[in-house]
Amino acid sequence: MANSEYEYVKREFEFDRRLPASNWIVVRIDGCHFHRFSKIHAFEKPNDENALRLMNACATSMLEKFPDIVFAYGVSDEYSFVFREETEFYQRRESKILSICVSYFTSVYGMKWKDFFPNKDLREPPYFDGRVVCYPNMKTIHDYLAWRQVDCHINNHYNTCFWMLVKSGKTEKEAQQTLKGTFSEDKNELLSQQFQVNYEDEPAMFRKGSSVYRDKVETKVKTDDYGNPIKRIRLAITVSNLDIIGPEFWGKHQYILQEDMSM
Ligand code: ATP
Ligand code: ATP
Ligand code: MG
Ligand code: MG
Repeated sequence: MANSEYEYVKREFEFDRRLPASNWIVVRIDGCHFHRFSKIHAFEKPNDENALRLMNACATSMLEKFPDIVFAYGVSDEYSFVFREETEFYQRRESKILSICVSYFTSVYGMKWKDFFPNKDLREPPYFDGRVVCYPNMKTIHDYLAWRQVDCHINNHYNTCFWMLVKSGKTEKEAQQTLKGTFSEDKNELLSQQFQVNYEDEPAMFRKGSSVYRDKVETKVKTDDYGNPIKRIRLAITVSNLDIIGPEFWGKHQYILQEDMSM
């Protein structure tokens, strides 16, 4: 860039915040005013499956585009993206990382809308806010993801009851009143006694949220001279709706956070 007398405005006023080295970087984005957005677009309540699948498709695109994202977890109108600890993505410049994640996700959301809602026009521009948080070790990353999944459970459990009550004829205020002060067991009882619904039978995508990561899958690459299949392990971006709070998932997928998975 040519120097000019005005160049000082950059040199003296622009500062780049670089995120601390050796920390996991989490970018969490959340839909702005999606309460309204979901009403305008007549999302099913409490969970519109197509809207969730669209969010998952956007997250999958993020992992395809940015190899330094090792894991993503999403629920409702939010998604968290975990960058590997030693990432040098945009030299760890905070505003670059954050703005690129938010704008890329938002763009893909608009581009893919028609694939998930072929009969609904996008009537308002969807937009997302975002933040960046650094976590200093793997325990805090696990705890961060557990926090989001617990939140998913609490909200979905409540919303499932709330919308069952509303759909059965109660007003929103009455439904809210009925649920006030109830514990988890009370909600399960209400669902089974009044609506013959076992909460555990609700779709896992609603109860557990969605995780996106590169999974090791065995694929047949070719056949040898004797007709036997030759198999290779390759990484495939996968969406699952599993428990990520307990040790089982992370026990089976240790490589996600431990190995350098960038391709
Ligand atoms: P970075 O990702 O670092 O911003 P960049 O490729 O976007 O890299 P910029 O310095 O932002 O680089 O420059 C924008 C580039 O986009 C220019 O090289 C220019 O050729 C091209 N460009 C932008 N707008 C137009 C336009 N209206 N017509 C033609 N070319 C354009
Ligand atoms: P803010 O701008 O502060 O984030 P918000 O209206 O987006 O406000 P959130 O707390 O983020 O509020 O909640 C998201 C809202 O979007 C919820 O009210 C939920 O009903 C709606 N929503 C998001 N995804 C879906 C979905 N898949 N199906 C039904 N409703 C959804
Ligand atoms: Mg929101
Ligand atoms: Mg939200």
